[in-house]
Amino acid sequence: MKKISDGIRTITDFPKPGIEFKDITTLLSDGELFRMTIDTFAERYRNEHIDMVVGVEARGFIFASALAYVLGAGTCLVRKPGKLPHTVHRESYELEYGTDSVEIHQDAFEPGQRIVVIDDILATGGTVGATAKLISNNFEVEIVELAFLLELGFLNGRKKLGNHKVFSLVKS
Ligand code: AMP
Repeated sequence: MKKISDGIRTITDFPKPGIEFKDITTLLSDGELFRMTIDTFAERYRNEHIDMVVGVEARGFIFASALAYVLGAGTCLVRKPGKLPHTVHRESYELEYGTDSVEIHQDAFEPGQRIVVIDDILATGGTVGATAKLISNNFEVEIVELAFLLELGFLNGRKKLGNHKVFSLVKS
């Protein structure tokens, strides 16, 4: 049987020297692996009464929409500044050099909704950590879990995710 981990290709020194870029386009282009990926997430959340699957820009959108479709849930976008057209909440976070922010529409959720946040890769945890804060500081919803295709364990991204439950399909 094919393995999901085999679908993720490593490109050395992209986008700059010293970075090992995890390229998921090879997984996405393999229909069997992409379906296995979504089915595995869906199996995990099937009985969790998930109302919304939140995708983190940009590759998180791919997984969020497919998972939401299977679960019969809605999907919602967390984006970089200036991309969402309606009024937003914003959360900033530290980068190695400088800061960045994530935004969400102010009417993204109804109180009491149960949500899963999904992204392709958990690296330093900065982006998803800010996303989790963005949601829990502004909405009365339950974040059931933060989900990833791949976790780069050596970067200890989980440390930035507080008490949230974290699930990754593949660890490296
Ligand atoms: P981070 O905030 O460091 O957890 O990373 C945020 C996002 O950057 C991840 O969701 C990925 O989309 C992307 N990213 C970080 N590190 C890598 C990597 N080594 N290869 C590919 N994408 C990465």
